[in-house]
Amino acid sequence: MPVAPGNPHGNPEAAQRQGALPSTPLRREVTLAPAGFPRGDTRHFRPAVGASDVAGPVHSAMMSSQVVVNQGYNSQLPGSYPPLTPAKTLNPGSGHYYSGGSQGPGQTLHRPPVAANPAVPSLHSGPVPRMPAPASQSPAATPRPSGGFLPGASPLPPVTWQHSYPSMGSQVNHYPPAPSQPPVPGSTNLSTNHQYVSSGDPLLQNSYGKSGITSNTNSGSLMAHSNYDEIEGGGFLATPQLATKNPQISRSVGYTYPSLPPGYQNVPPPSSATGMPPSSLNYPSGPQAFPQAPLGANHLTASMGGLSLHPEGLRVVNLLQERKMLPSTPLQPPVPNLHEDIQKLNCNPELFRCTLTSIPQTQALLNKAKLPLGLLLHPFKDLVQLPVVTSSTIVRCRSCRTYINPFVSFLDQRRWKCNLCYRVNDVPEEFMYNPLTRVYGEPHRRPEVQNATIEFMAPSEYMLRPPQPPVYLFVFDVSHNAVETGYLNSVCQSLLDNLDLLPGNTRTKIGFVTFDSTIHFYSLQEGLSQPQMLVISDIDDVFIPMPENLLVNLNESKELVQGLLKTLPQMFTKSLETQSALGPALQAAFKLMAPTGGRISVFQTQLPTLGVGALKPREEPNQRSSAKEIHLTPSTDFYKKLALDCSGQQVAVDLFLLSGQYSDLASLGCISRYSAGSVYYYPSYHHQQNPVQVQKLQKELQRYLTRKIGFEAVMRIRCTKGLSIHTFHGNFFVRSTDLLSLPNVNPDAGYAVQMSVEESLTDTQLVSFQSALLYTSSKGERRIRVHTLCLPVVSTLNEVFLGADVQAISGLLANMAVDRSVTASLSDARDALVNAVIDSLSAYRSSVLSNQQPGLMVPFSLRLFPLFVLALLKQKSFQTGTNARLDERIFAMCQVKNQPLVYLMLTTHPSLYRVDNLSDEGALSISDRTVPQPPILQLSVENLSRDGAFLMDAGSILMLWVGKNCAQNFLSQVLGVQNYASIPPIMTDLPELDTPESARTLAFISWLREQRPFFPVLYILRDESPMKANFLQHMVEDRTESALSYYEFLLHIQQQVNK
Ligand SMILES: [Zn+2]
Repeated sequence: MPVAPGNPHGNPEAAQRQGALPSTPLRREVTLAPAGFPRGDTRHFRPAVGASDVAGPVHSAMMSSQVVVNQGYNSQLPGSYPPLTPAKTLNPGSGHYYSGGSQGPGQTLHRPPVAANPAVPSLHSGPVPRMPAPASQSPAATPRPSGGFLPGASPLPPVTWQHSYPSMGSQVNHYPPAPSQPPVPGSTNLSTNHQYVSSGDPLLQNSYGKSGITSNTNSGSLMAHSNYDEIEGGGFLATPQLATKNPQISRSVGYTYPSLPPGYQNVPPPSSATGMPPSSLNYPSGPQAFPQAPLGANHLTASMGGLSLHPEGLRVVNLLQERKMLPSTPLQPPVPNLHEDIQKLNCNPELFRCTLTSIPQTQALLNKAKLPLGLLLHPFKDLVQLPVVTSSTIVRCRSCRTYINPFVSFLDQRRWKCNLCYRVNDVPEEFMYNPLTRVYGEPHRRPEVQNATIEFMAPSEYMLRPPQPPVYLFVFDVSHNAVETGYLNSVCQSLLDNLDLLPGNTRTKIGFVTFDSTIHFYSLQEGLSQPQMLVISDIDDVFIPMPENLLVNLNESKELVQGLLKTLPQMFTKSLETQSALGPALQAAFKLMAPTGGRISVFQTQLPTLGVGALKPREEPNQRSSAKEIHLTPSTDFYKKLALDCSGQQVAVDLFLLSGQYSDLASLGCISRYSAGSVYYYPSYHHQQNPVQVQKLQKELQRYLTRKIGFEAVMRIRCTKGLSIHTFHGNFFVRSTDLLSLPNVNPDAGYAVQMSVEESLTDTQLVSFQSALLYTSSKGERRIRVHTLCLPVVSTLNEVFLGADVQAISGLLANMAVDRSVTASLSDARDALVNAVIDSLSAYRSSVLSNQQPGLMVPFSLRLFPLFVLALLKQKSFQTGTNARLDERIFAMCQVKNQPLVYLMLTTHPSLYRVDNLSDEGALSISDRTVPQPPILQLSVENLSRDGAFLMDAGSILMLWVGKNCAQNFLSQVLGVQNYASIPPIMTDLPELDTPESARTLAFISWLREQRPFFPVLYILRDESPMKANFLQHMVEDRTESALSYYEFLLHIQQQVNK
């Protein structure tokens, strides 16, 4: 870590004196103003470079930005076009980021929140009346323009997007580089390309130095240390006209494919065998000459309507008559109605999904459907197979910066047409060679054109500084409360177990901070015989003593780190300090991490009480069940501001909250949300009293510590011209108009975006969406993960409905409802959810159905829509009438925003299985295991019986309810008990018995657990168990005191629809 010359903190003698605690490691206390330690100089951490006192941080930011701008990015980098809407981009002069997040937790851009519709019935906000709801709730004359969520908002300027993703440890296929550079067999390490310094450009190095400048946390001002927007490339702003106006730009981006590289000068022209016959230049024939030809071609006719739809999909369902619509196997996403040649290349729906798999060709048509248009992404998901391309040239559209993908068209061998902006681009010479087949002259068979999901090794143009090392800082609450929970034992042990598995390389750095009313640092300098503790008691003006010894190289200081982890849990066992200075501790952590970036993992067990960021209890238990006046918004902007500072320095903060008391997660969670971190919550964690939580923490830490991680990432999503992306959901910061800043990215995070149709798509039959995630892997490689999704455009309302993806729609609505809860109110959000169903089904009834039949007629695609929305209303985030703790509700909302769709749906609508009669029929065979696949049951007590045992999979929790008259066979062969009465009151594990029944049950449960990155705990419930209420609460279809049954809900919907 660079230390400024003369930085007094580099002088440990001046900053410490002997402390009082005798425990190991040595404890030293840093006093407020020791003699000879000039306060004015010591209280402020000095950046390594620049930042004079006179200029202040803003000036530094300007300098930094100017360095970026002037150092030749405009003339060297792809995508160095001026921003489309300057007002929304980083303004170097102000030193502030444009903060989309300031408008609310959804980080909504451009679009003001939709006004609440006062006429909307408040169906579920309070004690629920008998159905049907009073007619007066919604005047019949009032159109429902909103559905609460879906305004006919005016289209937005076109925006393009890119993301980058961190790399993964899974198996990858490495394609050798094109022969324009010497092939390095099996090598993926482009270290030379990644050494920015080796570019020999001093300005670049200078830029890196400047990036170490810290910003002023207290003021919340942010600085531009880098401009990833320029690296990643802008959007449609880079039109051909613009490029023409600024020839220097277009010439310099490196995508102009100028002259042949020397090795190619003498390559003979492609033979006619692989080449394109001249007659096909106009591209009418396609497949024979270019197998990919049908893909990007807009000549694909719309005559394929219904091609990939199962006849069942065309059915109209009367939900009041057909009440069992839930499939007995997991619901599959709809398959877009595309030619099979295209669909077979399309992006996996687990990674990239659209709410409407048939895109309405105009906003007017979309408005008519009253369904939300948006994307759900799981961009950094662990993949079994990921093609990785190492090539000197990453081929992108010169206009919009789209990465070449399976859905572009090749006009001939030398030209390809962008599927997002339709610009015709040259095929660079290197791209003519296919490294897979080792054949020249078939660019359309390159892996980039054959894979909708692909990863590129990024050359140095994609770096603003040398790739950062992996840096991990752990911040532990060690107050009396924390010690009482006993969590430190678990966490330190887990760290010891996984220390060698932390993703990284020889550059990995690690550090530890603990805090109660004071802040404790640990010097782990190589050569010390034991760690040294340094105590900072001035929490009002935190500084970092000897920073170079606090974050240390893990390899070099491993023994010290292990020693610290072994002693840490015992060091504070006698502490009586009850105060918690979380805010100052986070400030200290930020200062420590700012020069490099990295990941902060903070463990907190109570409401912070001291220093900046101190919070007051504000939960009123008697209001828990009300939908009004509950505190869903942060009580301070401290955590958000600090998170934005972290984001600016490539630092993400993950929060582990282990608390039985109210801890104001609404405020604390901001530290993770805006820094692209994650929130973990273990209510009532206790090492003895709550063994299930202990197990859960251990399992999840194992995953957390060892999963892949990407650093200093940005993500952008681009879409075909005419579509526009306007609102983002997830944990990140919107750095400029459309660029998501992700200081860390992990494989378990999901994102969602909303879109509108801005220009008519009548001239096109296909549209595409592309996400690009640019990140630094834990091995120090700069990589770009690209996903491209292609969908058909349709012109009729019926087709829009036929292609609706009900899970994606429900997931997007849930995200929107969280925003609405925060910006308006919970009851408003609930109304909007209900109206989303009513409005879309009304539209279907009035505009698609020709004859007005009685009943509640829905398209087959939306047959589960009312059920899923009802499930959302009963989900922890949005439920009313229960005694849900505020922090638990907030956590559920965090999960909605941050979880990939598949887990969100499981949490919302759990899967119920009967497991006392598992058989091998239809079982999966995985390795040498046989995993039974019992049918999924509807969530109603009707499906339970006392002579059975039922497993409910609610995502993060598994509940096995055992009926009173459950067969003796199951009790003895699976539970290992003599009879029903001997089932222990608290049972959280199944014994491993040597019976086929036991093997089947255990195989099924562990298979369920393996499906997800978090660890669902298991509870075995007897009929009289207090947790049975929890089990029944998930019975979404049943009526409760405060919520409608599914049938009642359908009646209500029908009444509203038929108005
Ligand atoms: Zn383009």
